[in-house]
Amino acid sequence: MKPAPFDYYRASSIEDAVKALAQSNGAAKVLAGGQSLVPMLNFRLVDAPLFIDINGVPGLSGITETADGGLRVGALTRHFELETSALVGERYPVLHEAMKHVAHLAIRNRGTIGGSLSHADPAAELPAMAVLLDAEIVATVPEGERRIAAEDFFEAPLTTSLEAEEIVTAVEIPALPPATGWGFEEFAQRRGDFAVAGVAALAETAGDGLSGIRIAVFGAHDTPLRAKRAEAAMQAGGIDAAVDALRSEIDPSDDLHGSADYRRHLAGVLCRRVLEAAMERAGT
Ligand code: FAD
Repeated sequence: MKPAPFDYYRASSIEDAVKALAQSNGAAKVLAGGQSLVPMLNFRLVDAPLFIDINGVPGLSGITETADGGLRVGALTRHFELETSALVGERYPVLHEAMKHVAHLAIRNRGTIGGSLSHADPAAELPAMAVLLDAEIVATVPEGERRIAAEDFFEAPLTTSLEAEEIVTAVEIPALPPATGWGFEEFAQRRGDFAVAGVAALAETAGDGLSGIRIAVFGAHDTPLRAKRAEAAMQAGGIDAAVDALRSEIDPSDDLHGSADYRRHLAGVLCRRVLEAAMERAGT
């Protein structure tokens, strides 16, 4: 199928892009890697009068260290750059692992972190990583900048709290405590497919004990979910309690890849594996 007719504008700066978006009253769409937008356009699932290409905007790409030991990732940073970044591998091995599961190499070469977060597919890895890592999404509006906690960003499948005239310019990830253990597991029917379900966990330690646990689920709820009930159950009762809590906390849907019951069961199995891996890596 061919897309409906549209106008194309290649923005030269972020101010230029934001202005063009504002002038369209939010009807225009931002074009980043095009790996989700272009297929949706060709299937006529998306129809917009104007596409604003941000690929020529300087300063939107790259991974830099922040003063608190975290990382700032420009919105146009490609998946492949995240996957191969030594800084990411060293500071966030869970993110490094997750990137290997995102689509195929050709798609990772073009797809961007800003595009993945804005697209907000509930089965995508990067939104779940943003929620797990307590990332902040930085959006630019004509008046300046707005920072949105990842947990408040994802509202429903393919729906975020981003206003129509806002553009994601960066993602900031705070530093993890030293010796944080991690686990990441997903099940997809073929390598490169979206996950049927996935779970990731972080285990933070203080002294000899566990000081904090974080669990994020994707593909088994209508948004990427920080599984707060499972986190509390893990602290209070251990892995069995966390698995039970996680299964009661998620609300998976039925589709041709699996029933809701199957996804609930699968998420529990993956939850157990990631918690065991995170605890082992944390040395607890
Ligand atoms: P685009 O396609 O350009 O844009 C996507 C949406 O985000 C559009 O609505 C666009 O307007 C908006 N947008 C883009 N950038 C911004 C911005 N900076 N500010 C505001 N809005 C913006 N993803 C996974 O996570 N896991 C997978 O397993 C996976 N498998 C895939 C398999 C296939 C065959 C394909 C085609 C894609 C797959 N993807 C997968 C999606 C891929 O990761 C996309 O690259 C990503 O979802 C979108 O990023 P993009 O830069 O291509 O965004």
